[in-house]
Amino acid sequence: MAHNEAVDVVLVGAGIMSATLAVLLKELDPSLTLEVVELMDSGAAESSNPWNNAGTGHAGLCELNYTPQAADGSIDIKKAVHINTQFEVSKQFWSYMTRRGTFGSSKSFISPVPHLSFVQGEEGVSFLKARFEAMHKHHAFSAMEYTEDKARLAEWMPLMMPGRPADEPIAATRVMKGTDVNFGALTNQLLKHLSTTPDAQVKYCKRVTGLTRKGQGWSVSIKDVNSGNTREVEAKFVFLGAGGAALPLLQMSGVEESKGFGGFPVSGQWLRCDNPEVVKRHQAKVYSQAAVGSPPMSVPHLDTRVVDGNTSLLFGPYAGFTTKFLKHGSFMDLPLSVRAANIGPMLAVARDNMDLTKYLVSEVMQSMEQRLESLRRFYPEAKAEDWRLEVAGQRVQIIKKDSKKGGVLQFGTELVSSKDGSLAALLGASPGASVTVSIMLDLIERCFPDKARNEWAAKLNEIFPAREKVLETDAELYAHINSANNESLELVEISSETESFA
Ligand SMILES: Cc1cc2nc3c(=O)[nH]c(=O)nc-3n(C[C@H](O)[C@H](O)[C@H](O)COP(=O)(O)OP(=O)(O)OC[C@H]3O[C@@H](n4cnc5c(N)ncnc54)[C@H](O)[C@@H]3O)c2cc1C
Repeated sequence: MAHNEAVDVVLVGAGIMSATLAVLLKELDPSLTLEVVELMDSGAAESSNPWNNAGTGHAGLCELNYTPQAADGSIDIKKAVHINTQFEVSKQFWSYMTRRGTFGSSKSFISPVPHLSFVQGEEGVSFLKARFEAMHKHHAFSAMEYTEDKARLAEWMPLMMPGRPADEPIAATRVMKGTDVNFGALTNQLLKHLSTTPDAQVKYCKRVTGLTRKGQGWSVSIKDVNSGNTREVEAKFVFLGAGGAALPLLQMSGVEESKGFGGFPVSGQWLRCDNPEVVKRHQAKVYSQAAVGSPPMSVPHLDTRVVDGNTSLLFGPYAGFTTKFLKHGSFMDLPLSVRAANIGPMLAVARDNMDLTKYLVSEVMQSMEQRLESLRRFYPEAKAEDWRLEVAGQRVQIIKKDSKKGGVLQFGTELVSSKDGSLAALLGASPGASVTVSIMLDLIERCFPDKARNEWAAKLNEIFPAREKVLETDAELYAHINSANNESLELVEISSETESFA
């Protein structure tokens, strides 16, 4: 065992979260020394890989579960507005990076793809209409269009209309300014940029196996997965950006704030189509409503994906039950995460979510024909030979202590940080990669509060001329920032004329 280096920051995992935080920290303080440690042999090998997630640039434009309906019929758009402005914050960072010249082109990771919401049945149509009325008055959604007209729907969704009963009540909304993001390409572009900066290293095939307190910081044990050799690195600050595996690492740290958290892993599968004749007839991300009783991560969508210059279609996700925390993880991940402090919340969640477990198991047991049936709700004329099943990334949903129920299951993300600000971990999955930059800014403000207020403040203002709160309320500023971002990221709105892909 070698005893050697000391750095300012160790980041565990080379996914979108660590890559973003590492680059951001180096922009704020170029003198920082840092090391990214990744157990796989490349960046973005888990959830950030483009085929492990849906690549939706979540901006609240199409996700129906972001706008719940109250008993009185009113629609709450707060969450959609917040996620929309968080996405504008992400775009500000990516714009800043692309303007630097050495970072590379945004075309490799972000593409304009319209975002549509699609509903069936009288109840679905009246929900979507009410939602449209509530949303399009807000400046973030002023470009949203609504229609129940079949001819118009055939222009918006040429693949999805043939073969439908003529009297089927359906409706859709459309926002032309949606995006598809290749988070894998973005991650690798950030990591490549990082390795060109002084005193920043990205080390692959290295697993973090231990975290112990050392003075004001941490001693991090790093094992080479090929040779088995372990080295110790001392760090003033540690970020656990290990995706699904962040929970066991957080537990390993022993910090008080880790107590009581558990993980509920959910696997996923997609149907993928690369047939160019089919692909060219669908140029959109079309989100619908989840089946009654199913969890939010199972909201079905039919998506255009732009990955490495090729366009495909992805449908799903089909959720499933697993005990692994990473796609390349171990079936022992879940049992080994049980602790005295989280067994109560975990048992409470198991007791209160039997329906969810049954649902996930039933999803795993589905035949290809049953999966195609779900696809045909969207694309009635889908042929089996055009589609193949692929395994998506893992999501580890958060289990938390709850004073009334004992434990609750949470579907969002949660940043957990130690009281002294020397360690932070990101738990959970959704809306995930799209809002990485906002999450990392939150981390910086929590763990480096003095620097964020003082020596880093000018740079933060330069990179982020407008943050979420002001973008939510200032329509003029929003329009200015949105159009500047779209220009820097070369997000030229694709034509609403549909002949090009009909
Ligand atoms: C099915 C699915 C669909 C999704 N769809 C979308 C979407 O449409 N839009 C969106 O914005 N987000 C989406 N997400 C969420 C998004 O993919 C994630 O939020 C994001 O990729 C998480 O990034 P990360 O860096 O935290 O984790 P990851 O990308 O999983 O990276 C973690 C890394 O840590 C490494 N690691 C783990 N343990 C160790 C260790 N001990 N030592 C060293 N390295 C370690 C892993 O190998 C991995 O490379 C989706 C996720 C899933 C699963």
